[in-house]
Amino acid sequence: MFHGKMKAVTFSFDDGVQDDKIMIKMLDKYGLKGTFNINTGRMGLVRRQPDPRFTTPNHDADHSEIAAEEIKEVYKNHEVAVHTVSHARLPKATDEEVIRQVEEDRKTIESLVGYDVVGMAYPYGDVDDRVAKLIAENTPIWYGRAIPDTSDFYDLQADNLLQYRPTVHFSKPDVLFPLAEKFLAEKNPEKPMLLYVWGHTYEAEGYEYWDKFEEFCKMISGKDDTFYGTNREVFECIRNAK
Ligand SMILES: [Zn+2]
Repeated sequence: MFHGKMKAVTFSFDDGVQDDKIMIKMLDKYGLKGTFNINTGRMGLVRRQPDPRFTTPNHDADHSEIAAEEIKEVYKNHEVAVHTVSHARLPKATDEEVIRQVEEDRKTIESLVGYDVVGMAYPYGDVDDRVAKLIAENTPIWYGRAIPDTSDFYDLQADNLLQYRPTVHFSKPDVLFPLAEKFLAEKNPEKPMLLYVWGHTYEAEGYEYWDKFEEFCKMISGKDDTFYGTNREVFECIRNAK
């Protein structure tokens, strides 16, 4: 299923902020792979507290958006995907605006990273059937992460990759750790399993959650029976198996 394995783990983080660099260091340390969804209209934007998006206790953290000239190098071991130009709430936008928000972001990312971009995460996780259909028919994007979470890694959602519901948010340890234990305990699953973990790296910085999350990375990594891939890599397996 996933390159000869029945289990896969992938990560997805949004908004392209400085905190991504800390996350990438951690993912790289444990051989984990992720997808980073960025707003190219906000690259290089300086974020100063108080910012309504970052109402977290650690007010010293730098949540500024990563600059265009850094994108390729910062994300070189991972995938970069679309999060719209300006973090737009797509179900509220016109058809033309939905397509513009996705396509302009996609083309700018491609010009920065030098490979085809085929995936996205919806700002606020907000998507509906009209938006998913517009994207399917007018762009090369074929997968998109929505919310809410499913907490079910047996549901691969092969028929709904453009409104994919992830397994669990990374900063919910009460759900994340029991799910990880369940995932690890499955030695020969009958059905393929995908553990899809998502969030915003500024949440780890803001809530001083890095140490706890590193415990998770350590626990889930280095297993012979598990494929560790970017969103695109695991979704390609799901799509090809259909
Ligand atoms: Zn976002």
